[in-house]
Amino acid sequence: MSSKPPRRKGRRLPMEYIGMAVMIAGSLLFIFWIESARRGYFLYNPTTKPSLTEGWVPYGYAASMLPGVVMMRRGRSMGKRQVVANNARLCLGCRYPLNDLSETGNCPECGDPYVLRLLREGWRRTYPEIKLPRG
Ligand SMILES: [Zn+2]
Repeated sequence: MSSKPPRRKGRRLPMEYIGMAVMIAGSLLFIFWIESARRGYFLYNPTTKPSLTEGWVPYGYAASMLPGVVMMRRGRSMGKRQVVANNARLCLGCRYPLNDLSETGNCPECGDPYVLRLLREGWRRTYPEIKLPRG
């Protein structure tokens, strides 16, 4: 059998992962609030008019997802721009530019083995909508 490198994706920017984590944390807070309300554990007495801060609690949780969404989107667009600018010749493991290197080898930054023609495939798996120039 040939020792083809495994099919893998390119690594996203840290900002994309942090954005995902912030978004998930915000969603969990929101679900927690909905669930506690459903079970009757209201954060305020529902028979009285909630104070401004109490009434805004669920909106605050919902809004806490927004920075995550914004970070994810910004990180993704930065990540795509970097891949396109380097014609997908970035290490899939650490995004180190491999422009002046041979067809196959190991990334000088992280030591990951690479095959230049497989890098495009890997980056398309991470960002399916990117348009790469030919060659
Ligand atoms: Zn690398």
